[in-house]
Amino acid sequence: MADKKAKKPSTKAEKLEQQLQLEHQRFESLVNSMADGVVAIDEKYCVTLYNGAALNVLDVNAIQKGDRIDDVMRLSNESGDPVDIKRLIMDAKTQFITRDYKIKYTDDSIVSLYISISPVHLGYGKKGEKGFVLIIRDITREKSLEEERDEFISVISHELRTPVAVTEGAVGNALFIAEKTGDIDKIKESLETAHRQAKYLEDMINDLSTLSRAERGVLERNVEDINVHEFTETLVHTYTPSAEEKGLKLHADIDPGLELLKSVKLYVQEILQNYITNAIKYTEEGSVTIIAKQRGDGVMFEVSDTGIGISKSDQGRVFDKFFRSEDFHTRAQNGTGLGLHVTRKLAQLAEAKIDLESELGKGSTFSIFFPNLV
Ligand code: ADP
Repeated sequence: MADKKAKKPSTKAEKLEQQLQLEHQRFESLVNSMADGVVAIDEKYCVTLYNGAALNVLDVNAIQKGDRIDDVMRLSNESGDPVDIKRLIMDAKTQFITRDYKIKYTDDSIVSLYISISPVHLGYGKKGEKGFVLIIRDITREKSLEEERDEFISVISHELRTPVAVTEGAVGNALFIAEKTGDIDKIKESLETAHRQAKYLEDMINDLSTLSRAERGVLERNVEDINVHEFTETLVHTYTPSAEEKGLKLHADIDPGLELLKSVKLYVQEILQNYITNAIKYTEEGSVTIIAKQRGDGVMFEVSDTGIGISKSDQGRVFDKFFRSEDFHTRAQNGTGLGLHVTRKLAQLAEAKIDLESELGKGSTFSIFFPNLV
């Protein structure tokens, strides 16, 4: 059946009425198509118009025309104290924008809002009324990224300050001795200190660069055949000097029946290096053992130490970005809290499963299962 044709207006007034209705419909669909919440209020702070996005962002099922804005939008500030939206509106002589306030949703989640308040003249000519239009947007994610970035900058600059200052002091000292006494042993001692700190800075920059590439998803993902036997032997060879320097034994227990592992060598290497350097760093006495064994269609690695161990409550957090245990044994060592975070990212990329068992004061075992990738 053909669509019913709209009734043709007969009088001028009807024609005008129909035009106004059409105009209103156009306006409504425009406001409703907006991704941001829009709420218009009159001089008495009562709602005269709103769109669907406003219901979403304010987490309400409905707004009745005439509802007061302070009943619809219960704002709080950064410290959680209530903020009177009416006051903000009253003070808005021209457009006012804020990103400082939050609201609490019914599921108790806290959402940060962008709010723009514009004083407007609603309607035409003298008959029009004064009012305000509020544009509201959920900026929780942006805010948390900003906070993360600020934290990142503050942690990194703090972590850079000490090694840079120590390096500068040690090199300055070496120059001073060279000029004054020329005592070669003392010069060497100072340069060794500077070298250790420069090495630490290099490790940190490498961690940061791997993390940034992993987060941007631009790390190369070349799956290759890894000879785990050779690979583990090389790791042991590389780390034996630093273990011996601390009087630790570094053992390897490699399953002779190991098959070739198909995975991304760069990731496997980075992860195991993180495990081993941590095991050496956080162990004062005893040993570090690396175990590699065949497990179904993949290889299981374990790095165990007899070190300071990790409390139950910290175990769930060691893989978080910047997490470092508050324990004074941990704080006695340099660290950024990035290594295990990078490990977790890389493990995801290699489809590997990480695990941790630890007891405070006894030691830790960090493990990872790499499946063969295709
Ligand atoms: P970093 O060592 O630079 O602090 P990581 O991300 O590598 O950062 O480790 C995060 C935290 O996990 C460490 O600060 C430490 O508290 C804890 N941790 C990691 N490995 C060990 C370990 N083998 N023994 C004890 N604590 C560890």
